[in-house]
Amino acid sequence: MKFLEEINRRRTFGIISHPDAGKTTLTEKLLLFGGAIQEAGAVKSNKIKKGATSDFMEIERQRGISVATSVLAFEYKDIKINILDTPGHKDFAEDTFRTLTAVDSVIVVIDVAKGVEEQTEKLVSVCRMRNIPMIVFINKLDREGKDAFELLDEIEQKLGLTVTPLSFPIGMGYDFKGIYNIWEKNINLFSGDSRKNIEETIEVSDLQSADLDELVGENSANQLREELELVEGIYPTFEKEAYQNGSLQPVFFGSALNNFGVRELLDCFVSIAPPPKPKESDVRLVKPEEENFTGFVFKIHANMDPKHRDRLAFVKIVSGTFERNVPYLHTRHNKKLKFSSPNAFFAEKKEIVDISYPGDIVGLHDTGNFKIGDTLTKGEVLHYKGIPSFSPEHFRYINNADPMKSKQLAKGIDQLMDEGVAQLFTLEINGRKVIGTVGALQYEVIQYRLEHEYGAKCTYENLNVHKACWVDPEDPDNEEFKEFKRVKSKFLAKDKQGQLVFFADSSFSLQMTQQKYPSIQFHFTSEF
Ligand code: GDP
Repeated sequence: MKFLEEINRRRTFGIISHPDAGKTTLTEKLLLFGGAIQEAGAVKSNKIKKGATSDFMEIERQRGISVATSVLAFEYKDIKINILDTPGHKDFAEDTFRTLTAVDSVIVVIDVAKGVEEQTEKLVSVCRMRNIPMIVFINKLDREGKDAFELLDEIEQKLGLTVTPLSFPIGMGYDFKGIYNIWEKNINLFSGDSRKNIEETIEVSDLQSADLDELVGENSANQLREELELVEGIYPTFEKEAYQNGSLQPVFFGSALNNFGVRELLDCFVSIAPPPKPKESDVRLVKPEEENFTGFVFKIHANMDPKHRDRLAFVKIVSGTFERNVPYLHTRHNKKLKFSSPNAFFAEKKEIVDISYPGDIVGLHDTGNFKIGDTLTKGEVLHYKGIPSFSPEHFRYINNADPMKSKQLAKGIDQLMDEGVAQLFTLEINGRKVIGTVGALQYEVIQYRLEHEYGAKCTYENLNVHKACWVDPEDPDNEEFKEFKRVKSKFLAKDKQGQLVFFADSSFSLQMTQQKYPSIQFHFTSEF
């Protein structure tokens, strides 16, 4: 049963963190263990400094050339690991939320000195809502930071997690001696030599033995004994099942930069992280081991090479095998499509593959057929759920600045919206187009890309909107809804799917409207 074996040896996950906690560094070290890359510095950071657009464009250009950084795959101990890239910058949070629909688990990176930060909180809350299994990695132990117990408390309180440490630091910063691996019952001594790739560990089967004092000194040894006793007393015993259903989160300590504590994390990850899971569709639950292929698009990446304006649609395989040159049903368009050069992803490159398995990501060249959330199947008509649009936070009118290029502008906007860069709304009263985004940076990105990829120019005009919410009437024919539409006609728009959206200009007016029309529900995501 090769098919089942292939499914069971796949682990598809994302690393989430606040910018600068060490996500890129950790990714790189994980790849080193897989032998997928030879040297440090090989993984491109997707970081945007101070929100500079030029920075973003530069990154996008580099990634456009090697889009493989969106998915990094490697093998370790016969497990095929797919890491999905998640941007840390808050303006791209939506991109990260969508990517989280394609992972089976996550690793959360936390800076030992900064503790739980804002982006970590947001992303973890999304994972918690979906019961995604999480492992926490506390990074930068080579620096002075918060006390381990204090930090574990903070993680429980701010992130709402139930943690249990599977490793524990011996000292910290200047006095950092190493890590005791609770999971494997051994000690890894810190030497601070970052070039060392594979660490040596020392078995410590009896914590009371004098060997421990010799290894780390009497004071540290006694402190460790006390702390481990506390750990045992306070935290629940690790259970794989509790971790896999999202109710318990194991914690590891280390220093990614020094490649320290990373092997412990990876070894535990491959033995506990879940293989691909069943996924809910609009008609039924689909299991990975089903024979027929199904999958969904969770990301679309524009090719930044102006010579070929094609895009790469990233499809997560949910069930069956995806094969080259086999026609598959695009269920939204109800038409069959065949792909002659599907890309699979490896550490730093992409290659054309003949066959891919559940858990894998394939990159399909696309000239405009796909948008985020689309489903592909062997023939069955079903649609995967769970990629909502979020209520944008910024709103501007978009105007055409070059009347000769209105077709190009329309096409550019259309395609950028399909990629999920922003959301387009059309005002009911006058047909004007409004672009809503999560971050202000997107406006510059849109302007830049419209010009460089589509040859169209646009300008923006401010619009005073506090929040956009999707309108869901109890009964579209009742008097209350008719009155709402009449009174609020100036504030109504349609999104790209034709759903009705209400633009509230302040939180007060939103509240008043909700009170006045109790039979209408106002939603802050497009999926309800
Ligand atoms: P990202 O924004 O989460 O991807 O963070 P990076 O991996 O780019 O790391 C941010 C900064 O922290 C970089 O300067 C890294 O060199 C540094 N860094 C990462 N891990 C460690 C660590 O274990 N110890 C120390 N001292 N610095 C680290």
